[in-house]
Amino acid sequence: MILGAGPAGLACAYRILKNAPEKSVVVLDRLTFVGGAGASFKWKGHTLDYGPHAFHSRGSEPEQLIRSLFARESHLLIEGTKQVHVYLKGKRFRYPLQVGECLVKFNPLLSLLIMLEFSLTSIFHSVVSIPVENFENWGKKRFGSSLYKMSFGDYTEKVWKTKASKISEKFASEKIQGFSFVNLIRRLLRVGGQVTEPYFQTWIYHKYGSGNVYIRLADQIRQMGGEILLGTNVRSINHDCHHVYSLTIDREGGAAELPCAHIVNTIPLPHFVNLFGNGAPFPVRYHASKLRYISLILVYIEFAVERISDDHWFYLLDPDFKFNRVTEQKNLSAATMEPGKTVLSFELTCRVGDNYWNMSDEALFELAKADCKNVHFLKNKANRITDYLVKRVPNVYEIYFKNFDQHAERLLGYLSDFENVSTAGRRGLFLQGDQHQSVEMGLKMADMVSNGSVARQDIENFLRQYVKYIDDY
Ligand SMILES: Cc1cc2nc3c(=O)[nH]c(=O)nc-3n(C[C@H](O)[C@H](O)[C@H](O)COP(=O)(O)OP(=O)(O)OC[C@H]3O[C@@H](n4cnc5c(N)ncnc54)[C@H](O)[C@@H]3O)c2cc1C
Repeated sequence: MILGAGPAGLACAYRILKNAPEKSVVVLDRLTFVGGAGASFKWKGHTLDYGPHAFHSRGSEPEQLIRSLFARESHLLIEGTKQVHVYLKGKRFRYPLQVGECLVKFNPLLSLLIMLEFSLTSIFHSVVSIPVENFENWGKKRFGSSLYKMSFGDYTEKVWKTKASKISEKFASEKIQGFSFVNLIRRLLRVGGQVTEPYFQTWIYHKYGSGNVYIRLADQIRQMGGEILLGTNVRSINHDCHHVYSLTIDREGGAAELPCAHIVNTIPLPHFVNLFGNGAPFPVRYHASKLRYISLILVYIEFAVERISDDHWFYLLDPDFKFNRVTEQKNLSAATMEPGKTVLSFELTCRVGDNYWNMSDEALFELAKADCKNVHFLKNKANRITDYLVKRVPNVYEIYFKNFDQHAERLLGYLSDFENVSTAGRRGLFLQGDQHQSVEMGLKMADMVSNGSVARQDIENFLRQYVKYIDDY
């Protein structure tokens, strides 16, 4: 039994059936479509993703799996290199930020201040050891105050709707890596310096929208005899101390019990643990209640123009912008849009029930239009807007509040006491990763569970590989 028909759950089901065709595999999802956050939907003549969903390619196993699904129709997979910019201090910069470009485009006094702070901070911290306690400390220590605030600090607070001092420094190690001052200076002086690239540059994408990859994966699972139960709400997990024996699901106005030999979870970790009900000890339920999510509002605006820009997406770093990021999906695949039109999706993070969440669609549209006025290539396009659509997606991003790791660790510890339960994927492990990482985890988990019993040591190695926020796995 697999909970969740997103990238991780589907990849896991597919691989189990490949490894052991005789196995009975059931995938359950409460939504009525497959693909999780990577799904797409139709709006008029367009096919839209829930935010951009380029599949990062590195010639790895996840990429090979996706390519194998379309081996006979390889024209359906488009590949490309990311073109991303940021808006900062009213100017447009390439992303990831190139320090040379920043220093040239910023006002010279600001550039000087950044270099000075950067150098002094680096020297100071190389002789004085001050513990890093949160994301703000982490950023200031590495970049100096001004550069940190402009490039990460303000944006972090805007996205997570909280002070950066309340965010764990472990968020940085997942999202921002490979930064070295010496390396940077060498690159600036053009005397070498390694281009450490934390940011995935190349992608593959289905010509008709990200979700088609998962529709194809689901079709293959069904053809191999797997079952996918969509629109299915799980009420509870029925268990004793070390063994899960069934799930209770909602069915036709009542409930039904589904026996299971093994559960692979890929739904959000705290939600999964809550399904164990009062059978889970109080401290475990307490830790589950401490893991939080941020939600997303997407405002899709249709323009009667062929294209707005060349960017796949651009970030709105300045705090004056209400929205975080704008995507022009047409630049991933023109076939996802009606001819002669393009749709931009504007992303705004919020909490379920807050002012943004409760705003009318029209008010959100007006807010997006207000941000357009401060983007040079959008400010004159208001008269080309032909329509808009608003989608609200609850709980899409895991928040790394301080101490989140201790809460997550307790939940993973509780689950590891069950001999027939395993958890994987971005949601299942409370991670920040992308599609290819969830697919990879699904495949690896499948290899472990395909032969029936899962060795404890294998699970520990798996967690050590993926759950970097826990130090002593
Ligand atoms: C706006 C946005 C943009 C992104 N852009 C990219 C990108 O460009 N490239 C990239 O690679 N990744 C991107 N990602 C990340 C990507 O979406 C995730 O890494 C990936 O979807 C994680 O797959 P998953 O299977 O672990 O989780 P999910 O995709 O979240 O799937 C989990 C599934 O569990 C189901 N579920 C949840 N609760 C229950 C329940 N109680 N009962 C039953 N089912 C349940 C959900 O319906 C869902 O189908 C983006 C994410 C967002 C939100």
